[in-house]
Amino acid sequence: MSDDCVPGPSTCNNGDDEKVGELKEERNSETVLIKEESNEDKMKRMNALLNRKRKKAVETPSESSIVPSIDKEEDEGTKRRRDEARQKILWETERAKERAERMGPQGWVRPKSLNTNKEFLSRTIQSTLSRMQKRDRDDKSIIRSVIMVVLTKTMHAPHSLSKEQVGRYSRQLLVADFGVTGQERLSSSSVLIVGAGGLGCPCATYLAAAGVGTIGIVDFDTVSLDNLHRQVGHKEKNVGKKKTESLRDSLHELNSSIHINCHSVVLDRHSALEIFKGYDVIVDCSDNPSTRYLINDASILLNKPLVSGSALRWEGQLTVYNYGERCPCYRCVFPVPPSPHLVTNCAEGGVLGPIVGTMGSLQALEVIKIISQSGATYAGRLLLFDGQSGKMTTVNLRERSPKCAVCGPHPTVTELIDYDVFCGSGVHDKTPDLKVLSPSERVGVAEYAMLRKSRGVCSSIAQEIEGRKDENEGKSVDSSIDLSLSQSRIRLFDTRPPCEFAIASLPEATNVPLDRLKNMSIDELVKTLKLPMKKDEDKDVFFICHRGNDSQLAVRLLGERLTNEGETIHSDIDTNQLRIRDVVGGYQAWADIVDDSFPVY
Ligand SMILES: [Zn+2]
Repeated sequence: MSDDCVPGPSTCNNGDDEKVGELKEERNSETVLIKEESNEDKMKRMNALLNRKRKKAVETPSESSIVPSIDKEEDEGTKRRRDEARQKILWETERAKERAERMGPQGWVRPKSLNTNKEFLSRTIQSTLSRMQKRDRDDKSIIRSVIMVVLTKTMHAPHSLSKEQVGRYSRQLLVADFGVTGQERLSSSSVLIVGAGGLGCPCATYLAAAGVGTIGIVDFDTVSLDNLHRQVGHKEKNVGKKKTESLRDSLHELNSSIHINCHSVVLDRHSALEIFKGYDVIVDCSDNPSTRYLINDASILLNKPLVSGSALRWEGQLTVYNYGERCPCYRCVFPVPPSPHLVTNCAEGGVLGPIVGTMGSLQALEVIKIISQSGATYAGRLLLFDGQSGKMTTVNLRERSPKCAVCGPHPTVTELIDYDVFCGSGVHDKTPDLKVLSPSERVGVAEYAMLRKSRGVCSSIAQEIEGRKDENEGKSVDSSIDLSLSQSRIRLFDTRPPCEFAIASLPEATNVPLDRLKNMSIDELVKTLKLPMKKDEDKDVFFICHRGNDSQLAVRLLGERLTNEGETIHSDIDTNQLRIRDVVGGYQAWADIVDDSFPVY
């Protein structure tokens, strides 16, 4: 396999075989000569040969004395073997030099530094204790032995990695600028991952595989079927199980030698600091502003580096906060939280699995760079990844803000606050429920179901078609005719994007996405929404969406437009007589309360 290939000198021994062959020929020719010379000549020649060999033995072998000289007529194969032999000699010479530089006066390998790795010390003490106890030694003898072994190993061991660790992590030990020191730092470090979802799963998986000593996972949620397309740390068998425990089991299957702590709680102002203080690096894999501000403030108050990632639809972002004196924090970049109804999360906007996979993996890489103290991190820079076009762009962030409320020189946030109040939404990744309209401007799903039934609208397209067939005595009826019939009985407008409308909708609904609605002229609005223009027409207009947020905004928007621009409409009726309402809870509530066969997403 190509990934198992180790760069370096070839171990091919063709060159050695060739040299052995040359010596044999030389000896054979000498034997022929010896038969023809006298005893005196023979002695002279033997003495000369011995002197030559002695002289050669005391000489320091140089590259030119070992590698055959270049013969202009030698073929390509010989040249290649000669080059390989030369490379091998150079490589071995370098390794020998390195070993020599690290050799102490007694011949032991000089440690790079005193080994104080806790795990290593603990392992050494435990193994020594158990060995002594098996031998039934007295307490004094045991203590003396433990002290001697610990001192010897900490002073003399070149590193703290066990044989198993060297074998398991060998491919990353070979990486320049990471090596044994990087691995030791990973093994003795602890990382907290907030969010066991699309970002948290790949991030935790790579960190566990790399051998981070302790990984903490924070998540209050349980695994659901619609998580699995992107949250690859969970399995079908774990649907309904706590995400922390599901991911922990998955990580332990990958690497049983690391410690994993589950924090199955809602992270809030009361729990955050206590959890955070036990870890070296914090990773933000959450999906809502409230949690992001909480994680940021807790990281600043405890002075811990924060690796932050996000993903939505085709795009992802990555940066590192609070890592270095000039590095900004999340509040420096976003001092004011966004309005809740402007926030789109994965549950609303959707996301592709490989996008969160890419960003989560990059977060793991940032953590490894921070812990191993190698490479340039994204501190002070923001990575923008557009998966649809395949572009990655990096922009520089402004330095730490002197006006920042938490990391500035005069902070106003010196302890954690109520982030639900600060952001206007809760510490969770679910879609917040907006309350834009008054109760009189809304209709519940049960009431709407009664209303549409009273107007003869069937609950599904299939029933509608079946009903029309009966009326027409078995004549085939086109489904579009039935839809138009339904729409004429009740005006229901669906404000979701076309891709969501395509998943499922009520048969009487017409798709008018909210974004399109916002950009229409008043005439287009009246025409598209088929607003009643005569006194005898039905004056009810309903809006519906996924969860009942956009539909409220649509009702508010239409009301304002008609109030401000209604005079320009030529109508027999007063637009104020229109009853424009939204369906509370949208299709989610419809599926929960009225029709459990309606597809939920
Ligand atoms: Zn700041």
